[in-house]
Amino acid sequence: AKASGSNNFRFYAKEMNAELGHRLSLENDLWHALENQQLVLHYQPQVCMRNSQIIGMEALIRWQHPKLGMIPPLQFIPLSEDDGLIVPIGIWVMETAAHQNRQLQLAGYPPIRVAVNLSVRQLEQKDLVHCIEKTLQHSGLDPQCLELEITESMLMHNIEESIITLNRISDLGVQLSLDDFGTGYSSLSYLKRLPINRLKIDKSFINDITTTYNDAIIARSIIALAHSLEIQVIAEGVESADQYAFLLENGCDEVQGYLLSRPRPFEEMEALLRDGG
Ligand code: C2E
Ligand code: CA
Ligand code: CA
Ligand code: CA
Repeated sequence: AKASGSNNFRFYAKEMNAELGHRLSLENDLWHALENQQLVLHYQPQVCMRNSQIIGMEALIRWQHPKLGMIPPLQFIPLSEDDGLIVPIGIWVMETAAHQNRQLQLAGYPPIRVAVNLSVRQLEQKDLVHCIEKTLQHSGLDPQCLELEITESMLMHNIEESIITLNRISDLGVQLSLDDFGTGYSSLSYLKRLPINRLKIDKSFINDITTTYNDAIIARSIIALAHSLEIQVIAEGVESADQYAFLLENGCDEVQGYLLSRPRPFEEMEALLRDGG
């Protein structure tokens, strides 16, 4: 028993070292990923429920690692938040998304929004608003066509500061949406103080919307609450026609999810606009 115990320990120690080594080497590689153009944006369309038109797209980052292949954001964004690398990465995301959206307009497609995810580290940067202004200048994009997605929990780090920053962003004409709505701290009391254009009902509520009474009630209540505050509602993670029908019937404004399209590379996003338009 003693021998196997020590073997187990060695086994786990080895596993832990492998994991730590993996993390360190990823973190190291990430520094080079930006300059070596290994980061790419995929885009997932957002569709208006009233007329079935694509009215926006969410930019979702991926890392094309030379040895490990395509790495999803949840495997490296948290690393980049620890060491502050999220700040330059975040600027790159915003600049690229704005530039590519402008490219679509220059190619003749009707204007749509591009939504960019912000991290809490970016929200805390003193020059965030300045960076947004520069992005708008560089790209020539109409501010209405840029949207920033924030979460409730990000705001709760420093709610008063956050409200000031969000108001300055909103004053630029840039749109704001509250992502993963319903999963974080309940900030219902702050909702009317936030210059938010749009709430995103989290996928976890959408999953069982047609089979679980409570989730249906929650989704309906979120839509009613948002509309009473003149805030639009978008549902994320919509995968089935039944979910779509429920949301349509209950007055949801927009949808996003695998039912309509997975996130896709820019060229494929353009093809989707071409075929849909
Ligand atoms: P999120 O902002 O909640 O993005 C939605 C996630 O759900 C995306 O995963 C998307 O691919 C996925 N999704 C969309 N529709 C469906 C569906 O119908 N079913 C299912 N099962 N999933 C769906 P992804 O691309 O892996 O991104 C994960 C998270 O990484 C994002 O969650 C966001 O928090 C973060 N992220 C992505 N890009 C960026 C970025 O540029 N900056 C920052 N700070 N975070 C990012
Ligand atoms: Ca998002
Ligand atoms: Ca989300
Ligand atoms: Ca999420």
